[in-house]
Amino acid sequence: MANEKTGRREFLRRAGLFSGTLPGILGLDWLLKYANQLFLVPSAPTEAAVAQPQWAGAVVKSYRPLGRTGWKMSDISFGAAHVSDADVVRAALDRGINYIDTSPDYSDAESERVVGAAIKGRRDKVFVASKFCTAQGHLAVDSSVGDIVQAVEASLGRLGTDYLDLCHIHACNDLDRLMAPSFHEAFDRLRAQGKVRFLGVSSHTPELEKVMTHAVDSGRFDVIMAAYNFSAWPDLSSIIAKAHRKGVGFVAMKTLKGAYHTALSEFTPSEAQSFTQAAFKWVSGNEEVSGLVVSISKISHLDEYLYASGEKVTAQDLGLLEKYDRAVAREYCRPGCGQCLDACPAGLPIDDILRYAMYHDGYGSTRVARAKYARLPQRVRGTDCLTCAAPCQGACPFELPIRTKIVRAHQLLSA
Ligand code: SF4
Ligand code: SF4
Repeated sequence: MANEKTGRREFLRRAGLFSGTLPGILGLDWLLKYANQLFLVPSAPTEAAVAQPQWAGAVVKSYRPLGRTGWKMSDISFGAAHVSDADVVRAALDRGINYIDTSPDYSDAESERVVGAAIKGRRDKVFVASKFCTAQGHLAVDSSVGDIVQAVEASLGRLGTDYLDLCHIHACNDLDRLMAPSFHEAFDRLRAQGKVRFLGVSSHTPELEKVMTHAVDSGRFDVIMAAYNFSAWPDLSSIIAKAHRKGVGFVAMKTLKGAYHTALSEFTPSEAQSFTQAAFKWVSGNEEVSGLVVSISKISHLDEYLYASGEKVTAQDLGLLEKYDRAVAREYCRPGCGQCLDACPAGLPIDDILRYAMYHDGYGSTRVARAKYARLPQRVRGTDCLTCAAPCQGACPFELPIRTKIVRAHQLLSA
């Protein structure tokens, strides 16, 4: 018991809960009592522990049509949200990845600069997708056409290219944003100038199914990108099928369901099983999915992830995914759920805050998580959940301990 308590204490310390004022507010016993609700297992696998010799040098083995764009994208593609080393991007291109998803608001535009350095001299070999954003965040729905055009031109400058293959209306939460005249006029202008080839939309909003259905039906969008992972979004498969019929590419994101496997020793990858490979194979099992993007920031990611390229999901994989689901059932805030939002009297963007905390917990991207959190209004960051009766928790169908998690997120991300 003493060892268990020591271990939990150490994990809490590593997770940042013993920094700052929180222990003084809550008390150690309170924190330890709720530790099992906050974190799953107090250890993360090391690089040496996860590397499997047979994965080294894995390459892309499958390419699929990206809707009517004419591009055949690598089934496992590069999410650049957390990359800081251009050599990792170059290695990905060497191994056959030919689609990169970046954005101005990933790491204060550092992502676009890193990608730009990597694609220099090989621009025609890669399909580059970015977003209508600035380094400060998403462009507002009432942004002027001029501001939107200027933001894209700034992306082109950072990427060192004359054109984007694809530009997404990012974080599209409703139909007003999806069909905002200024975004569409800006896109038409940029396309006419040869600066953007295709229009896309990305979303993980509670209105995701409505937004994506409208995007496909509108005929305006060439690619849609949405959270898609095992045992989630029952209606999304029919939207993907419709997109496929209409020549709209579908790119899956958030395929790792929070990526909490990095903190769960029982999911340490081995030759026999890899959670990430199982998750990717499940997504690719839907042949109407064009491809998936996953955050890649180091060579070992390429080794492990690309080993799943072109592979079929197995019964053992499905068992592993079900085991993961059970492990994170009360940890994972489902993208696009939002059922707790109306219950919060302070109007906190609970899902966003928990997603930022997940960037820290699952991806180790503390800098990105804190930067995104810092953009929330001070009113949100200053809300004291401890004095609230937490009606949010009764509204969560998955019984997440929201108050505890928000308190922790405030502490962790304010540092
Ligand atoms: S505990 Fe926090 S997140 Fe939950 S309802 Fe109260 S203020 Fe909102
Ligand atoms: S905390 Fe629960 S109710 Fe709120 S968005 Fe996440 S999963 Fe849905």
